[in-house]
Amino acid sequence: GCQSSGGGSQTLTAGTAPGFPPFEMKRDGELVGFDVSLLEAVVAKSDYELSGWDELEFKSLIPALNNGNVDVVAAGMTINEKREEAIDFSDPYYSSNQAIVTREAGSFSPSSLDDLDGALVGAQKGTTGESVITEQLVETGTIEASAYKAYGNYVLAVEDLLNENVDAIVIDVPVANSFVGDRPITTAFVYETGEQFGFGIQSGNEQLASALNGGLTAVRDDGTYQELTAKWFGQ
Ligand code: GLN
Repeated sequence: GCQSSGGGSQTLTAGTAPGFPPFEMKRDGELVGFDVSLLEAVVAKSDYELSGWDELEFKSLIPALNNGNVDVVAAGMTINEKREEAIDFSDPYYSSNQAIVTREAGSFSPSSLDDLDGALVGAQKGTTGESVITEQLVETGTIEASAYKAYGNYVLAVEDLLNENVDAIVIDVPVANSFVGDRPITTAFVYETGEQFGFGIQSGNEQLASALNGGLTAVRDDGTYQELTAKWFGQ
């Protein structure tokens, strides 16, 4: 929760869901990634202080904001109207579309959502990747509801893809690029969703929103944002 300290600055507990490289992941037991570095840099530009990180499942992050267990979420979270009914967002800090990832070997190489007819398709629970599956594949009748496999974490979805328990997964493009790496999986095609990631905060916390937005402007202006994208995305 938010607490005032003697110096007049307020401490923030951040929430995230590791297993979403390169935005947030565990490396030698330590939480690292673009979101982690970016939020720390942004908060350092403000009057707030970051007291620590809570690691949760992605679908628990909005509830954690709402019950006050965390003050700010940095989790590659897409800004959308449905979520804005429950929480507020900072200004956008990264753009994404959805990748449809399949195994490299084999005859299954879809190039459109229609080609997923009859496939087993996975995503992480509570994500916009899941929404693509439910809204564009299940509701359209391209796949049965039972052909959607929901995972607590994208790491488990990728493992199931490698183990041939699922035929394709729907996942944010920059994260797909990170998972593909040297694994025998590939982005079969990209479904354009035009998503923008923002930091999630409690509804109506305008003071924190303007502090985060000011911090985002400051890290863009002083080159920190560029350094962090180069470090974590190699661009
Ligand atoms: N960008 C996607 C979403 O907001 C996925 C985020 C994630 O899995 N961490 O739902």
